[in-house]
Amino acid sequence: MEDSQFGRALADLRDIAARQSAAQSEAGRLIVVSNRVAPIEEGQPTAGGLAAGVLDALNDKGGLWIGWSGEIASDASRILPERQKGKIRLQTLDLSQADYDEYYRGFANAALWPVLHYRSALARFTRADYAGYQRVNALFADAVAQSLAPDDVVWAHDYHLLGLADALRERGAANRLGIFLHTPFPAAAVFMTIPVHAQLARSLCQYDLIGFQTETDRRSFEDYILREADGHLLPGRALVAYGRVVRTGVYPIGVQTDDIRRQAEAPANCPQMARLRTSIGASKLIISVDRLDYSKGLSERFRAYERFLEQNADQHGAVTFLQIAPPSRSDVETYREIRLELEREAGRINGRFAELDWTPLRYLNKGFARQVLMPMYALADVGLVTPMRDGMNLVAKEFVAAQDPLDPGVLVLSQFAGAACELKAALLVNPHDPDEIAQALEQALVMPRDERRDRHAEMMAVLRRNSLSAWRDRFLGDLARRA
Ligand code: UDP
Repeated sequence: MEDSQFGRALADLRDIAARQSAAQSEAGRLIVVSNRVAPIEEGQPTAGGLAAGVLDALNDKGGLWIGWSGEIASDASRILPERQKGKIRLQTLDLSQADYDEYYRGFANAALWPVLHYRSALARFTRADYAGYQRVNALFADAVAQSLAPDDVVWAHDYHLLGLADALRERGAANRLGIFLHTPFPAAAVFMTIPVHAQLARSLCQYDLIGFQTETDRRSFEDYILREADGHLLPGRALVAYGRVVRTGVYPIGVQTDDIRRQAEAPANCPQMARLRTSIGASKLIISVDRLDYSKGLSERFRAYERFLEQNADQHGAVTFLQIAPPSRSDVETYREIRLELEREAGRINGRFAELDWTPLRYLNKGFARQVLMPMYALADVGLVTPMRDGMNLVAKEFVAAQDPLDPGVLVLSQFAGAACELKAALLVNPHDPDEIAQALEQALVMPRDERRDRHAEMMAVLRRNSLSAWRDRFLGDLARRA
């Protein structure tokens, strides 16, 4: 590009940025939008990171949380009246059957989810599903627009809402809009297997800030915009594309380390824990906890454990592998298939190795409350977390936070979980390599206490630095900051 052209282009970009900034006054109330809102009941511990982080932010500042109620309306989708829970206003939407089928089951979970996790071959795309996705994003935008004041800040979450900012801009919103993607963002060539990738990227660029779990995800998005969307890079991780300036950033989601350790030690959990302790006896415990999802690498993990048993006959009877896998999205075909496959594999492995007094693999197809899970993590000698791809994987972080610092268990972690970027003191493995996982299990089971302590202390330092409140404050701080 010639200097004079470059100068003009730069002036244009500054102009766009100035117009965007002028349209956005200082940050006001917070409006959070996510597919679901967490059930907020007094005294009830909330599930996962998103819910806990968002609840803290809303409790601090007060604000509105909008999401699907989880209910299917008999006729058309509808926005329900607001409810007040303490400082938080909650607004939920009921979806129609068609909206649920096309938006949630269809485009979000059968097309976007597999591609975002590098599994394009599993993706099922239809134009009707994408139209449903846009329709529901527009419905969410209607709900936001009802209460949007000019200085409000909107924080959208995850792959369900890639089109929300676009729908809000169409409704005239000039507010600061940000989205945090909890999943990975794949390499450009993979993202482009979604037939509507260009529309999605254009919609995403209607946000002012896009947050990613890791630098790899952020770079993949940037690379797509620069190469495929004719974008330009500005200083400070800002991109110019589709006539707008959009900033990107890396905000690894954290966990509440002190709460987790407290739960891990809480006496209220004794009855279930006592049963588990008695039943495993003196054998060492390997634990895995995952939603039943093909991104979690469950069948590959079962094969790796089988390899470990083949190669370590001396460990027969001395180790138990507990896989907790609550079903999820069981009305999506691929998820039904994986469930059948795992039942078959668990039966086969136990059939091959079990003894009268020893079941090598316990596969529990159900979920547990966090107050029960955290002490289970603490009891385990090894946390085996080997997703094929994962945005972050909170289980990996929770496992570390739950351990007794004086006698901690060992984390075996997939290099393709977002958490691997931070938890470098784990035993990192390639989930595609059953031999490597089997070796890591061997190493973990005999690791001396000093090494376990050192590795644990190193990981805890990272978890304390990148806490859940740091995640929230950094994202909201950047969103409020002028471009
Ligand atoms: N979880 C739970 N009960 C279960 C299984 C999982 O409460 O039976 C929680 C787990 O503690 C973690 C979350 O669900 O906080 C799962 O988050 P992760 O990032 O590991 O995976 P995702 O399900 O979001 O893909």
